[in-house]
Amino acid sequence: MAHQPPATSTDPIVILGAGPAGLACATVLACHHHPRQLRILDPSGTWLSDWRRRFAQQEIPTLRSPAVHHPHPDPFALLGTGDREGLVRSGGTYLPTPARFETFVDELTGHLGLADRVEPLHALGLEQGTGGQPVLALSDGTRLPADRVVVATNARRAVIPPALRELVGDPRVATGEQADVRTACESRITVIGGGLSAAHLAIGAAQRGARVTMLARRRLTVRRFDVHPSWLGPRKLRPFAAEADPVVRRRAIEVARGGGSIPPRIHARLHECVEAGRVELRERASVIGADQRPAGIVLHLDNGTAVETDRLWLATGGRVDVSADPLLAGLATHTVIADGLPELCEDLTFPGTRVHLAGAATGLRLGPTAGNLIGHRRAAARIAAAVRGEDPERADRIQTGAGACPRLPRW
Ligand SMILES: Cc1cc2nc3c(=O)[nH]c(=O)nc-3n(C[C@H](O)[C@H](O)[C@H](O)COP(=O)(O)OP(=O)(O)OC[C@H]3O[C@@H](n4cnc5c(N)ncnc54)[C@H](O)[C@@H]3O)c2cc1C
Repeated sequence: MAHQPPATSTDPIVILGAGPAGLACATVLACHHHPRQLRILDPSGTWLSDWRRRFAQQEIPTLRSPAVHHPHPDPFALLGTGDREGLVRSGGTYLPTPARFETFVDELTGHLGLADRVEPLHALGLEQGTGGQPVLALSDGTRLPADRVVVATNARRAVIPPALRELVGDPRVATGEQADVRTACESRITVIGGGLSAAHLAIGAAQRGARVTMLARRRLTVRRFDVHPSWLGPRKLRPFAAEADPVVRRRAIEVARGGGSIPPRIHARLHECVEAGRVELRERASVIGADQRPAGIVLHLDNGTAVETDRLWLATGGRVDVSADPLLAGLATHTVIADGLPELCEDLTFPGTRVHLAGAATGLRLGPTAGNLIGHRRAAARIAAAVRGEDPERADRIQTGAGACPRLPRW
């Protein structure tokens, strides 16, 4: 495949979204370019705002992924020189606490001169200008022509079970994205879901004195990582990449992620709450209807029983669908979409454009870990290679780029 030539344009490379996916791209690009050629836009005006908020709201004790997964291209960048503060040993690896991870991100952005570079702007539109150049319409009313755009906006929408859709808008109901254990008090809270977010919410609310009911459609699945580590290497990724049919690849992602799961250490904490009578866990329980009453919400279950609750938290997952994303819907008409995910070129561009994706939406190229920190690093390697006019697929395979990135003082 012919790779696009390196940029000759003086227009910037624009990264939309300052989450971990945008940061992974900015890190590698900042290592290879003068940061002035980069613009990073996010309405929050800061790095990792959603990430920090979610970790705080769920009071998450550690990341699920090991400390070698983070936005810098060198896997050992976070582990540094051996300081083990904020690292929790788990089955032969270290899991960073959110504080350690965020300190690392602050050091990384500070060291690369990226700390103050997130502009508090929202991209409202994305068009192809003359010669196929991407042009952004921004929330301040300006239009921004770009050499390339990296869309790392994580346009994921909460999945609400059909029986509960009419409850949306009721102030007593929150999605997993909104639910905040710090607001829990001595009330009845029902958490729907069987994954890690549901478990964190149930444990957090119980610790604050709430009477928690956790309803899961299936028996809880206990697993260390959300995707089996075999998906990090060529044994699984090579046949995945070789599969011509995007629908088959989409299905493989679904099977590999396999719905929600809970790591053993969090499962043990949940069971302590169950044994202490602070959480009532009901597995294989589906909600088939709900009544909104002034005294509480009544949930009707498929086994004929009912649960009455003061508050309802829906930790029922999220879904990316680029066709429903106003920013990408126009580009999405030019490629195959398999259940929400677009078929992208090797450099993660929409075919015939200079618009790259990063994050979960790149799943058909990167596989089931596209939405994880390791997937963000692989996306960044591919995009940076494309900017340099190199082979993106090769860059992903051998993870080039680490050598060009400066070491942090901690090393
Ligand atoms: C609670 C939780 C814990 C997780 N833990 C782990 C873990 O331990 N390990 C792991 O590998 N993965 C983990 N993940 C998965 C994944 O790494 C995170 O979801 C990660 O935040 C996704 O990064 P992102 O950059 O794609 O999206 P986000 O973090 O959601 O960032 C997207 C950014 O885009 C901005 N944005 C949106 N629209 C626009 C626009 N139009 N213009 C400009 N900016 C825009 C938003 O403001 C936001 O800041 C976790 C996810 C969650 C929710």
